[in-house]
Amino acid sequence: MTATLKTIDYSVLQQCMHCGMCLPTCPTYDATGRERNSPRGRIALMRAIADGELEVNRTFADEMSYCLGCLACQTACPAGVNYGVLFETARSDIQRAHVDDSARRRFWRGLTLNFLFMRPGALRSAGKMLRLYQRSGLEALARRMKLTSLLPPDLRRLEPQAPPIAAQFSDQLIAAREVPKTAVRGRVALLTGCVQDLVFPDINRDTADVALANGYEVETPRSQPCCGSLHAHNGELDMARTLARRLIDLVPPERYDAIISNAGGCGSHLRHYGHLLADDPAYAERARQWDLKLRDVQEWLVEAGCRAPSQSPFDRPATVTYHESCHLVHGQKVSRQPRALLKLLPGVTLTELPESSWCCGSAGIYALTQPEQAEALLKRKVANVKTTGAAIVATSNPGCHLQIARGLKESAANVQVVHPVSLLAAGYRRENRE
Ligand code: SF4
Ligand code: SF4
Repeated sequence: MTATLKTIDYSVLQQCMHCGMCLPTCPTYDATGRERNSPRGRIALMRAIADGELEVNRTFADEMSYCLGCLACQTACPAGVNYGVLFETARSDIQRAHVDDSARRRFWRGLTLNFLFMRPGALRSAGKMLRLYQRSGLEALARRMKLTSLLPPDLRRLEPQAPPIAAQFSDQLIAAREVPKTAVRGRVALLTGCVQDLVFPDINRDTADVALANGYEVETPRSQPCCGSLHAHNGELDMARTLARRLIDLVPPERYDAIISNAGGCGSHLRHYGHLLADDPAYAERARQWDLKLRDVQEWLVEAGCRAPSQSPFDRPATVTYHESCHLVHGQKVSRQPRALLKLLPGVTLTELPESSWCCGSAGIYALTQPEQAEALLKRKVANVKTTGAAIVATSNPGCHLQIARGLKESAANVQVVHPVSLLAAGYRRENRE
């Protein structure tokens, strides 16, 4: 039974002592200066609903849609308010109350949450069709002939942002089981993700290579389902539970020393399966075991004692800066480890990015639902990157990766975006060429 704001443990709502410490960290409050657009304001609305003083209505739905779910407020809160749980519960209530139930919204949710992200085969087939459109010349022709202007408004806005789909996905790049050339220190499972699999399967390959270079056997179960993060973030908790059960069955936690994710947004959800399945007698214990094994790859590498590559990933010295994915830094509290790994790289100078943990505006489907705010946040991020003079921005989440790369390209900045593990993998590969 999914909890609602009325049935959730009331002490979570009561925990907010209205101190306002979270306000300066909240991007939406920063944009408007209005209390209702702040974490404290949103929690007050949730409490009013729990107390029966307010209905779940359109105004509340709009407010929760404006919230990025970035969890910066959770990090800042001295009282330990679990805003992530409140956020997901509020969005689930909104979904159930059908207050925002236009045909357009139903269509997009049905296509993405109910269909594509519930069926890995369908998602990969859709990816292949998109690649065909991109690579056959159809995309260029449609743009040249301005046919894209005939698309419905949502698609028209999304079309230029569609990421280039990779030629091969993770299952083609990584064998189901790979063993290191050196003595085996342990065995890990690699989670390949959805966007990561379609757009950045090379990052999954790099992750496997880094684990192998550190002496770990890597298993990559085939045709992995979505982790359910997108569903939980958008109020579809029952679907999120179904996906969690499937993933636990496919990747039994007792088999591995660690289960590793390299996408900040996915990892933040993946490590809370215990909470998600707490009321399921058949899965509660396995989900708890799963949480104990789940690691972000960077966190795991630091714990495992990652060895420094003897070679630089680059031909010449390079300056790298680091953008923190919200769900990695606030959701998973992984902040020090990516920097520690970047510092292992010979020939690389790490320079701090101003406001490194300020959201870039990606936030799942936020660019679709709140395009203006998403663009404003992206511009701010790009301006900060430019001040560093770095040639590379390292970041660990596919949404941030795509968003920042697009912003940099549109502003004609000659800055590349990479995952930290890709830099490590490049260093290790160069060792073999010595
Ligand atoms: S999740 Fe982010 S946008 Fe939402 S209230 Fe917290 S800080 Fe503000
Ligand atoms: S910092 Fe925490 S306790 Fe203070 S207002 Fe924000 S959510 Fe409430």
